[in-house]
Amino acid sequence: MSSFTLTATDGEARAGIVHTTHGDVPTPAFMPVGTKGTVKTVHPDELTAIGTTILLGNAYHLHFRPGDELIAELGGLHRFMGWDGPILTDSGGFQVFSLRDTLLGVDDEGVTFRSVYDGSAARLSALDSARIQANLGSDIAMCLDVCPPANLSHRDLEDAVRRTTVWARGQRDAPRAPGQLRFGIAQGASDPDLRRRSIEEIAELDFDGNALGGLSVGEDRAQMFETLEWAAPLLPAGKPRYFMGIGDPEGILEVIERGIDMFDCVLPTRTARTGSALTWEGRLNLRNARFARDPRPLDENCACPACTRFSRAYLRHLINQQELLGLRLLSLHNLRFLLDLTAGARQAIERGELRSYKAEALARLADTAAAEEAL
Ligand SMILES: [Zn+2]
Repeated sequence: MSSFTLTATDGEARAGIVHTTHGDVPTPAFMPVGTKGTVKTVHPDELTAIGTTILLGNAYHLHFRPGDELIAELGGLHRFMGWDGPILTDSGGFQVFSLRDTLLGVDDEGVTFRSVYDGSAARLSALDSARIQANLGSDIAMCLDVCPPANLSHRDLEDAVRRTTVWARGQRDAPRAPGQLRFGIAQGASDPDLRRRSIEEIAELDFDGNALGGLSVGEDRAQMFETLEWAAPLLPAGKPRYFMGIGDPEGILEVIERGIDMFDCVLPTRTARTGSALTWEGRLNLRNARFARDPRPLDENCACPACTRFSRAYLRHLINQQELLGLRLLSLHNLRFLLDLTAGARQAIERGELRSYKAEALARLADTAAAEEAL
């Protein structure tokens, strides 16, 4: 059976279903990030309750702590973390390449670097990454790719594209966990020729899905969306399309409109750790004194565990006192906000109304951002 069913389109935007061993994932799908085998502070049952359909795990961190072989011995990542829904694991490449001062060398088999855990020299080849993800037993494994920083020279970027394809070829037929899907990743930054070439080369390898990597690594956002606008439709239409590393409300709507099916970001939980809530009134910084006596929930229309029971004043108190419950409730709310936004977009695509859904959402978010600045 194909791993993807396209159920509706609206312009370039798509609604569909990714079929995995641990269940179906309706798309567009926002994937909460559980880097170290946990979405920070949140219980798996709560993730289900707020509408999570797929989680992201991290090959790099789980390989070093507690070890992918240990996790395999204990029955795989699903059993280990008590989550029996779909899991996508990233390859570890992003961590290796984003922690640049730990990078020692890149060659045609893989990458050498220093572990962030103990500084020891470590090696991650394309085949290592495939083996680690097979051990974790994720539903979707990502190819190891060369994820270069923004503003690389043309020559270095070309080398990254070439190597990404060489690695992808090696991983295509590498051993997998039972039923595991594997996605390829196209690189090439915003360079028209290199991005096209990378997409063609990766698409030709016929992976179960395809990702655009290296587009959310610090380049100008307008340029990123412009690139996405022509690059996304070049990806095979019959397979899921994953945009790596976006998760702010505006960004989610922009990538969905351009034909992306899956995306992930640490933003909702990271924002929670800074004491901020994502709402239809914009981003609320609960440390602000104006919430000290505010009896309202974060969002009148939100059905999350924070909004159905607690006031802004109480949440502010928890955040100011660095109480763990505050962090947990804010994480749940922020995740729910993005999951709801994404689910709403899916429904809008099915009705053929994504354009107005997006315009209305952006207007609400912009209005309140302006109001917030005026305060
Ligand atoms: Zn809420």
